[in-house]
Amino acid sequence: MRTGPTLRERRDQMVAAVGAVDGLGGELWRASSADLEAVMGEADRMVAAGEAARVLVLAEAMSRGETGAGPAALTPVQWVRAHAPSTRGGGAVQVVTVATAFSVPGRAAVKDAVLSGELPVRSAAVVLAEADRLAPLLAEGVEPAVVDGLVEMAVRHGPRGCRMLRPRLLAEYGLDGELQRDEDAAKRFVSLSQPRIDAMGMAEYRMVLDPEGRAVLEAALGPLSAPRPVEGERDLRCSDRRRAEALITLVRRAVERAEAGPRHTKCQLFVTVGLDALRDGLRGAGVAMGGPEAGTLLAPQTVRRLACDATIIPTVLGVAGAVLDQGMDVRLFTAAQVKRLWLRDQHCTYPGCDMPAHWTDAHHLTHWADGGPTDLSNAALLCERHHTIVHTRRYAGALVQDATGPRVQWDLTVGSYDRALATQSAREPA
Ligand SMILES: [Zn+2]
Ligand SMILES: [Zn+2]
Repeated sequence: MRTGPTLRERRDQMVAAVGAVDGLGGELWRASSADLEAVMGEADRMVAAGEAARVLVLAEAMSRGETGAGPAALTPVQWVRAHAPSTRGGGAVQVVTVATAFSVPGRAAVKDAVLSGELPVRSAAVVLAEADRLAPLLAEGVEPAVVDGLVEMAVRHGPRGCRMLRPRLLAEYGLDGELQRDEDAAKRFVSLSQPRIDAMGMAEYRMVLDPEGRAVLEAALGPLSAPRPVEGERDLRCSDRRRAEALITLVRRAVERAEAGPRHTKCQLFVTVGLDALRDGLRGAGVAMGGPEAGTLLAPQTVRRLACDATIIPTVLGVAGAVLDQGMDVRLFTAAQVKRLWLRDQHCTYPGCDMPAHWTDAHHLTHWADGGPTDLSNAALLCERHHTIVHTRRYAGALVQDATGPRVQWDLTVGSYDRALATQSAREPA
């Protein structure tokens, strides 16, 4: 029992559809604007349908071994280029990638979206590449949900949308700690080039930031780089110029402030994080709130470290998303405490580091997230780099007394913090 046209009839229909474009130019002059819009829509559907048909035909040819048969055996890519000449300028590889995935059960969502004309082949190839990259990082059984999410983003926002989904997918579906590993790996690519100076003396920099760096920078630049009208006259500086000037203002202020002594920095970045994510530090993620970076995901360990520092205000969400603690009062060292800490520690307390006090953070020796109090006996100065290392390698620090007074001593064995914490909680009855 056959339903629908035969293959012969379908070919004739395709020929007729292509024929409809012949001489189209001569007719368009009489089209109303509504006609133009409608014809544009149909032309676009023809392109999508043509792409889908190409992939279907190739999938059939490959399944029969046609592409590699005959005296002049071709690779699938060569076969596509031979029979679909418009791909000779590019795109044949993507057709093959997508056709190959048509026979993979876990990629059914890609097939459906391509055949319905919703997902262009170029986007489908990006979805497949991203799905392959994510696959080894995912918990068991979640791959179809991840592929669905990627397809949906690619349909709505194109390939870029699908790449931007990666942190969210890792947070939700990744194996324990994968978002953190991803974020830690991203740190290696952070860079700021030396200036390239042109004939006018203008300097060009190239900067690459990880999600955390971007969230911090954008949260600070956001309010500083807003247009500022002067006496009612519009601010005509372009956005890039306002951003660059805001960055210089930031640096200038930071250097001045360093000399002036500790003061509370203004709240710059708000992060929400689930209590469980903060406690177990593996699954889930924090989300930056407000400003241009709203929605940037941050891995839980990153949020824990940021929670030590005054510039980030985490909002801890308990079960059912109720706000448990705005953080501010109990978490931040006061300016007076920081002043005494500067006098006590003088510089970063990490062995061998002499980063001056005004460039350091006040770290909670028993992390704030683990219920560590905000007082001097639980505090140590650490520069940004060593602060990160202490949190990622989970080093324990303790305040010891020696001849010259109190001093912070670090145990540089990986995980010493967790062992100290376990001993401590074994001693204290719950
Ligand atoms: Zn810390
Ligand atoms: Zn240091």
